[in-house]
Amino acid sequence: MTVESHFENHKSVIETELTKAKEIVLIAVAWINFKEYFDIFKNVLANSAKLKIVCSDNWQNRSHQSSIDALVKLGAEIKLLKMPRQTNHMHHKFSVIDNKTILNGSFNWSPNATSSFENIIVIKDLPIEVTKFINEFGKLLKIEAKAIRVLQKVKKCTEANCDGEIFNILVFSENNQYYEVFGDIIEVCISCENHKTLENCVSNTQIEHMLNAYQDSNDDYETELIDRDINRLLNSYVKGPITIHAIGRVKSGLRYDDEDYEETNIIWKNKFVGNRLPDKFDNTTFGVVYDN
Ligand SMILES: [Zn+2]
Repeated sequence: MTVESHFENHKSVIETELTKAKEIVLIAVAWINFKEYFDIFKNVLANSAKLKIVCSDNWQNRSHQSSIDALVKLGAEIKLLKMPRQTNHMHHKFSVIDNKTILNGSFNWSPNATSSFENIIVIKDLPIEVTKFINEFGKLLKIEAKAIRVLQKVKKCTEANCDGEIFNILVFSENNQYYEVFGDIIEVCISCENHKTLENCVSNTQIEHMLNAYQDSNDDYETELIDRDINRLLNSYVKGPITIHAIGRVKSGLRYDDEDYEETNIIWKNKFVGNRLPDKFDNTTFGVVYDN
């Protein structure tokens, strides 16, 4: 058994090991620059080895769709994985070559990663560990579909003549002074807006900076990490198996036509159901009123 650690030249370490493949290469890495690694992957296939890749379904990976398509045409199996919960988040960075060499470490296979303090470890001839990594690879392929189905299963409204979907939204009261603000968790039908309160007096103090960072972020990687933290925190807010699908803030004031208005703006949405939720609810605060 041998173990080597590398803190630089990650790409050439990967290239050296992948080029040796004769049977099969498994790769589970969250971020891969397929353009940059295209020739290396192509060579694996040219050597008649199988190539199976699982990576995260994110904007960066999708931007290499033409390289991905070309590799698939050459025989590669490539899966962009959607992971619904932080506990299942795709953060893997490993590869198994010919069922005997493991590459593992903190290194995403993208040029960005080379500039930070990343490492990659090459482990050879340690069969027990190889089995664990191969099992993990198989698990990655299986959990996705099931977990997303559970999350996307949303309750239906029971009001007469309404078949709307019911979502759980954490609604914070209006924040004028940036002190501690409270909110309620509301179960709402997005068609008829019939709603009830599931939980009172949830404080914003823990989540506020995450929401600000989420709104300010324009980097996909960073957004995904913040998203993960938000989901984790939300899980601690609720008793029992409730998923919070979105977070909103009440806003009120005087409109241009001198009429008072109040509304609830949605500032964060769970990415697996978010496209089914509106960006704001007009004329309602869901009864969320706390004095600041
Ligand atoms: Zn309804």
